[in-house]
Amino acid sequence: MSAPDSDRARVVRENLDRVRRRITDACAEAGRDPEEVTLIVVTKFFPVSDLRILADLGVRHIGENRHQEAVEKADQTRDLDLTWHFVGNLQSNKAAAVAAYADVVESVDRPKLVGALSRGAHEHDRVVDCLVQVNLDPPAGVSGTGRGGADPADVLPLAERLTQAGGLRLRGVMTVAPPDQDPAPAFRRLAEIARAVRELDPGATWISAGMSADLEAAVKASATHVRIGSAVLGRRAQIK
Ligand SMILES: *Cc1c(COP(=O)(O)O)cnc(C)c1O
Repeated sequence: MSAPDSDRARVVRENLDRVRRRITDACAEAGRDPEEVTLIVVTKFFPVSDLRILADLGVRHIGENRHQEAVEKADQTRDLDLTWHFVGNLQSNKAAAVAAYADVVESVDRPKLVGALSRGAHEHDRVVDCLVQVNLDPPAGVSGTGRGGADPADVLPLAERLTQAGGLRLRGVMTVAPPDQDPAPAFRRLAEIARAVRELDPGATWISAGMSADLEAAVKASATHVRIGSAVLGRRAQIK
């Protein structure tokens, strides 16, 4: 079998076109400028060759959720002009290392991470943009599912801590919609929380919400960043 690179590139291009159109349509419906919405393609489980295809197609923002995979891919694509978003659960003992290559850490959900990220940013002489990940799963559900995110009540203190930490810049909030239900209420709630965070720091304007299945609801609820994996790259191996 010859390497079906061009087939893969065609599939990714068609998928990407479809996703870009969905974003444009959702913006039109919401009366928003599509320029306000940044597409992050989440490339977890997909090879570096896909990142090259994406870069060729004008994608600049890449999301990854595991440190080991992310650091290897970032290392192998240094020749590309990519912005790296770390979107996964972060162990505090990995946080300093993530600060070495991540331009944005979207999953800050506890105070311990702030110190570790700040230390890493200093060590590598970088400034890392940070989002507070908010857990909007219904209470009393199955907890400890490892989805991550700060309790809404803990978001402001955590955001404040980020504004005070050297090498880190508070940019806003992020969420993953609760599973198996209408995402709209969670996204509206996130927008409210985002407003409160913005009062703390006017520079914290980012709202990262929306994945392949629910980007329209997120755009409608003021998302500035959508994180799209499968709708662009196809099904992932079912590990998580
Ligand atoms: C995998 C992942 C995504 C993308 O999910 P899709 O449903 O494939 O679009 C977005 N956000 C986070 C945090 C992820 O881990």
